[in-house]
Amino acid sequence: MEALVDGFGRVHTDLRISLTDKCNLRCTYCMPAEGLEWLPAPELLSDDEIVRLAGIGVGQLGITHIRLTGGEPLLRRGLVELVSRLASLEPRPQLAMTTNGIGLARLAEPLRVAGLDRVNVSLDTLRRATFAGMARRDRLADVLDGMAASKAAGLTPVKVNAVLMRGVNDDEAVDLLQFCMDEGYELRFIEQMPLDAQHGWDRDVMVTAEEIMERLSVKHRLTPLPGRGSAPAETHLVDDGPARVGIIASVTQPFCGACDRVRLTADGQLRNCLFAREESDLRAPLRAGATDAEIAVRWQAAIAGKKAGHGIDDPSFLQPSRPMSAIGG
Ligand code: SAM
Repeated sequence: MEALVDGFGRVHTDLRISLTDKCNLRCTYCMPAEGLEWLPAPELLSDDEIVRLAGIGVGQLGITHIRLTGGEPLLRRGLVELVSRLASLEPRPQLAMTTNGIGLARLAEPLRVAGLDRVNVSLDTLRRATFAGMARRDRLADVLDGMAASKAAGLTPVKVNAVLMRGVNDDEAVDLLQFCMDEGYELRFIEQMPLDAQHGWDRDVMVTAEEIMERLSVKHRLTPLPGRGSAPAETHLVDDGPARVGIIASVTQPFCGACDRVRLTADGQLRNCLFAREESDLRAPLRAGATDAEIAVRWQAAIAGKKAGHGIDDPSFLQPSRPMSAIGG
């Protein structure tokens, strides 16, 4: 099998597939209140196209992990069947999903039966009013129900992604951790990144990993766990365990040197970095009748050109033209 290796020797085994750019929330750090101009339906990859590309990744290029994301992946019609087809690929990839959890109360069990292994659910606050303000939708109860259903269905460990925003929910770090410890979820804080469509990100206002650690340390003893590998989160044992908490310090402590991720957008563009400004079109050759081998070569070339790092903290940094919701977080 060929590998997806870049010019710095990084081997890419983790494929993130965005299933749609649409979302049923409007998180202020991600999307404007009115939403975005959605991708036209004919431009979206069909299920057959997604399965074919994923099959090339898994069968020829060494992809071992697939994460379904978006937009909101649960909004994709026929999701359970798609998961089942992805789970049938050989060699079978690990299948995870990043979701806002709305709809999981109903879908967690069928998704697990179809072959989904794990979920990451996004939850930034435990306060209903704060949730309604941050996500611009009053859906906290649905998210909590979805998380509980995921645990009951065995989509474990249920990981929870939280973004803290100054003056909004940054006082909830300890409460979020306590909630996750009580429920047996694994919490990870993500530093806010410059990926919002409205370009509202401000480095000076962002809540840093260091600050999050300080807030948690008021209540808990945190011990860093060795052996992070390519995982984006720096994981800490909480009060000697077994609970853990992760911090994804994409901005202040980038982990590009160990990156093993490649992204496929819902319209079939390959991105070798969340922050890349260039994409490689896989949809056009796919629809023009390219062979698997030809697509694999194109995919390898896209990875070969990957930059050393995302450069967010560099003064010359330019935000990618696609927002997070259209890339696939
Ligand atoms: N809709 C799904 C969800 O809510 O998890 C999947 C897509 S969402 C873009 C994936 C993750 O990206 C979420 O955990 C969300 O909080 C995070 N996210 C979105 N915009 C972000 C930003 N500007 N900085 C950091 N994380 C962000």
